[in-house]
Amino acid sequence: MRVVLLGPPGAGKGTQAQIIAGQLGVPAISTGDIFRANVSGKTELGLAAKGYMDAGDLVPDEITVAMVKGRLAEADAKGGFLLDGFPRTIAQAEQLRSSLEELGHGLDCVLELVVDEDELVRRLSGRRMLVDGQWVQRSDDEPETVRHRLQVYREQTAPLSGWYETEGLLARMDAIGAVEEVTQRALTALEACRGARPDGPSAG
Ligand code: ADP
Repeated sequence: MRVVLLGPPGAGKGTQAQIIAGQLGVPAISTGDIFRANVSGKTELGLAAKGYMDAGDLVPDEITVAMVKGRLAEADAKGGFLLDGFPRTIAQAEQLRSSLEELGHGLDCVLELVVDEDELVRRLSGRRMLVDGQWVQRSDDEPETVRHRLQVYREQTAPLSGWYETEGLLARMDAIGAVEEVTQRALTALEACRGARPDGPSAG
């Protein structure tokens, strides 16, 4: 299955992506994680991305799209994937569509995790990650940067919801609740997507 997870920062995409990808037997590909690994490794890509990430801005499409294309061309992504954090702009979505078309594929489902903004701010300001045995706050989770990331989401990424709805690919789901509950809702929504596709099991 080829799936995109859409949703604001703090919606729980990363957590759900790992679990759902495991269930589907496809790799979870997180652009945020790839960027962070490159920043820690001080690679050229990391150096190019760091300033944008720290400010809570999007890394420019040229950099991001090339990186994702390279990742999707790897062997483990040939049979399917779950994208987390990409696309984040309409331009990225168009590029994704055309690179998949070149390979003779399309997306099966875009799953949008819906969480209201008060809850997002609460979650992000309390979020910590484990680095070398220590719980630390992600540098872009400071309150002012969080507010900016939410604004960037509203302006640049939220319009993707309507775009994918027009494409007939969107499934929206409530992402508030226990992790397992949200996973269950996500898997049910994905089943419905799969069944609705022309080449899905219910059509044959
Ligand atoms: P979150 O969803 O919590 O904002 P991510 O880990 O997905 O966190 O992304 C962290 C940062 O990485 C973003 O704020 C942005 O700077 C950069 N980034 C990730 N994915 C993309 C993308 N598709 N396009 C541009 N920048 C991206």
